[in-house]
Amino acid sequence: MEIACLDLEGVLVPEIWIAFAEKTGIDELKATTRDIPDYDVLMRQRLTILDQHGLGLPQIQEVIATLKPLDGAVEFVDWLRERFQVVILSDTFYEFSQPLMRQLGFPTLLCHRLETDANGRVVNYHLRQKDPKRQSVKAFHSLNYRCIAAGDSYNDTTMLAEADAGILFHAPANVIAEFPQFPAVHTYADLKQEFMKASQRELTL
Ligand SMILES: [Mg+2]
Repeated sequence: MEIACLDLEGVLVPEIWIAFAEKTGIDELKATTRDIPDYDVLMRQRLTILDQHGLGLPQIQEVIATLKPLDGAVEFVDWLRERFQVVILSDTFYEFSQPLMRQLGFPTLLCHRLETDANGRVVNYHLRQKDPKRQSVKAFHSLNYRCIAAGDSYNDTTMLAEADAGILFHAPANVIAEFPQFPAVHTYADLKQEFMKASQRELTL
């Protein structure tokens, strides 16, 4: 039995904070962990900016609902779900990803949670656990599942290493260079091939 573990942002959908910043024109929201390495500081800043612009969860979800999965992502997920149990392991928040997950047909998603008050104001965030992607793969192993994982960035590499097979998809050159042990592909057609290669079953397109 095999589970396909997929990262979400950069693999199936655009980077949500960046796309949200572009849609709303709020440039300060483009900051990432590259600019502010302390994730807690970064998230506090993001929540403060949302407040300053009077953006509560309903307004945020309205904007995110105008975003689209990456070209070919919906077809790819459909293809994968016919051949694997598909679980998305992401560092996003359920409340943020909801409009995009709807467009993907709501595959199983394990991620983090935002806390809102009665008016929809985002007051806090809750990370599910430390190193959550890797812990999820470990947990699936304890249930006797083989795991084949795909992701695009540093926060995926412990998941890729823990999985029975790890694949880099849409990864930037520095990540590919630093993790040569993982095959790196850039199209959904090639990603399908990598999943078929990594499977212990005789799968066909
Ligand atoms: Mg990603």
